[in-house]
Amino acid sequence: MIESALTVDSTKFGTARIVSRRDFAEGLWVMRIATDFDLGYRPGQYCTLALPIGDRLIERPYSICSSPEEGEIELFIERVPEGELTVPLHRLEVGAEMPVRRRCKGLFLKEAPVEGQAHIFVATVTGIAPFVSCIRTLLRRLDRGEWSPAGRVVLLHGASVSSEFGYLDEMGALTEKFDWFEYVPTISRPWLDPEWPGERGRVEDVVRKYADRLELRPGSASAFICGNPQMIDNVKGALRRGGFEAAAVHEEQYWPE
Ligand SMILES: Cc1cc2nc3c(=O)[nH]c(=O)nc-3n(C[C@H](O)[C@H](O)[C@H](O)COP(=O)(O)OP(=O)(O)OC[C@H]3O[C@@H](n4cnc5c(N)ncnc54)[C@H](O)[C@@H]3O)c2cc1C
Repeated sequence: MIESALTVDSTKFGTARIVSRRDFAEGLWVMRIATDFDLGYRPGQYCTLALPIGDRLIERPYSICSSPEEGEIELFIERVPEGELTVPLHRLEVGAEMPVRRRCKGLFLKEAPVEGQAHIFVATVTGIAPFVSCIRTLLRRLDRGEWSPAGRVVLLHGASVSSEFGYLDEMGALTEKFDWFEYVPTISRPWLDPEWPGERGRVEDVVRKYADRLELRPGSASAFICGNPQMIDNVKGALRRGGFEAAAVHEEQYWPE
């Protein structure tokens, strides 16, 4: 645990230990943590990490990438320039410990998968986290014969350059394996990544193209959007103009606009 004179309320916080981390782009990493208590959650929920800094405990929410059926908690985090929590958090190595709130929260994806519907999931960079948790959980349920897809599940993922796609291999392999699943990573700065063979453009600029191409129609498809608030507004606007009802479009903003 980081050295601090601060007393952490043990009724509200338990301890998380970093068990592994994977760094793949400047300031972007996936880490797995183990808690010393049972952190129950649903796909789409977030946990709250904390670090004692000076005489304050700084807390921030992080969507969980792992399935609740996995033992450890997996998180995909971006270091924000001068960010109060992410700058010191990024320095922590495997074995480091930190306080974590005992309760996970959040209603995003509570309704997913929506019965009888196709799904369009849209994310920017770390906004893919809740969708990874949902998809990993659906695959386990599919294996056990507890769930079968009613339509396509399309995951549209935007980033500046391809090195920011922390789940490219995992989601790419699922696209190869299942005809009902399609992962579409798209980059907004192709001039910085000229070898990238995939889609180019911001997610908001290509969402209608993929909705049409993959036959995700208003009424038979539900949309879930997560990450950058500006992107969420733009994607919502594009889907609404395409005929999607407000009730069929769900969102999780990572920070206020
Ligand atoms: C429900 C929920 C789930 C979240 N899940 C994740 C997650 O899975 N992974 C993750 O990395 N973050 C996630 N966040 C954002 C996270 O909680 C923090 O806001 C972020 O890590 C910055 O914290 P900080 O203390 O370093 O920066 P601060 O000092 O609090 O922030 C500086 C400013 O940076 C802006 N900001 C915050 N995040 C970003 C960003 N990614 N890119 C650009 N600007 C930003 C905000 O406007 C903020 O005011 C989530 C937020 C919410 C509300």
